[in-house]
Amino acid sequence: MKEIKTHFLMFLASIAIAFILIQNIYSVYAAGLFLICIFTLIILYHTFWIYKLSKWLNNRSIKNLPNGYGVWEKLFTQIYRTETKQKKTKQELFELLEQFKSAAGAMLDGVIAIDENAEILWSNKTAQKMLNIIPKNDYHRPITYIFRNSIFKEYIENDNYEETLKLTLQPSLLPLEIKIAFFGANQRIIVCRDLTKETENQNMRKEFVSNFSHEIKTPLTVILGFLETLEIQSNKNSSEKKMISMMNDQAYRMKNLIDDLLLLSQVESNQDINRSEKINISSLLNNIKRELIKPSTKKQKFKYSIDSKLHIYAAKHEIESAFSNLINNAIRYTPIKGEISVQWNIINGLAIFEVTDSGIGIPEKDLKRISERFYRVDPDRSRETGGTGLGLAIVKNIIIQHQGEMKINSEINVGSSFKLIFPKDRIASK
Ligand code: ADP
Repeated sequence: MKEIKTHFLMFLASIAIAFILIQNIYSVYAAGLFLICIFTLIILYHTFWIYKLSKWLNNRSIKNLPNGYGVWEKLFTQIYRTETKQKKTKQELFELLEQFKSAAGAMLDGVIAIDENAEILWSNKTAQKMLNIIPKNDYHRPITYIFRNSIFKEYIENDNYEETLKLTLQPSLLPLEIKIAFFGANQRIIVCRDLTKETENQNMRKEFVSNFSHEIKTPLTVILGFLETLEIQSNKNSSEKKMISMMNDQAYRMKNLIDDLLLLSQVESNQDINRSEKINISSLLNNIKRELIKPSTKKQKFKYSIDSKLHIYAAKHEIESAFSNLINNAIRYTPIKGEISVQWNIINGLAIFEVTDSGIGIPEKDLKRISERFYRVDPDRSRETGGTGLGLAIVKNIIIQHQGEMKINSEINVGSSFKLIFPKDRIASK
């Protein structure tokens, strides 16, 4: 402000001097010459300092900042203050970043920062080991080029990271749990956790259950055999016969449970199972109908829409078990005169098996957990109708082993629909 005032006063003084020159010497030329000299001096003064400023801007360093003179002294002091403040903030940010990097580097989890194009910006040592990232080659390249996994690619492109991704069934890859969170301008942080220990523990538990079931199966078969003989030999309507019949029922429940546990561990273990047999699903469904639907005393109405030419490559006993589990559930959870529809068709290029019923339905809060082992909405009803609580866990595992997926829709007192979706390359013929 002070400088503007000074400039304005200088301007007024020059005009006054020029006016005096005209008055006293009567010469417009002398006054003009005087004004030109004054303005030239002012222009030269400012040009000089502009030159100094632009020179400094080309080689910006606080040490080389000129002192300036007059209005320029003020300006350079202001620049000096701003530059010192910026330098301090930069230094603080740098220290903070270094602290973050060393903290993230020490983490046992892998951490990777990616930009809006999924290109790697930074990663810690753990992540580099887990996903084979080589910083000098792989930074600024899309993470999906470096870590080539179709499930991960789909997850990262989906942009919905509410649920974590577990990659436990991938050969030649550590079992991993992956979480993603957004930060900054559409940048993302990926956190990878090694699940090796957890998977080993889980496998040990599964192995124990499988061995235990194997061991118990033979004595149980012997007991069942004796119970059947005793039941036949005991007197009709005697209390002894009733007791033996109850024992028989309970022993059968145990047998069903053991059979389901063994089947589940077999499906999970993934060993020696040929999942590329060509299966005629239409005739397989005829067998299931014969076994399940005719003996059903409930008499629900059945509807079928089956593409008899649609065959797939899969493991026959597993597919039979999955399909019959879903049909059996529909029978058990649908009241008399309810409707059950069974469909096997190609929809949008994918082979889809769907069982829809007009039964009791499943509450929304239970839908997410329904395919966990032993998860039941109504445990009494499940047991009364001969359920083991393992059916859907078996179905889900079977469809995963065939690279497909299970989708469940249900509304309480309206009905449920269970879909098994098989990928294109499982379709054998149409
Ligand atoms: P369960 O042997 O108990 O039927 P499942 O694993 O087959 O075990 O099913 C788990 C639970 O899911 C069942 O206990 C039942 O509550 C529910 N459920 C499964 N299928 C249906 C269906 N079609 N309608 C209603 N509820 C169902």
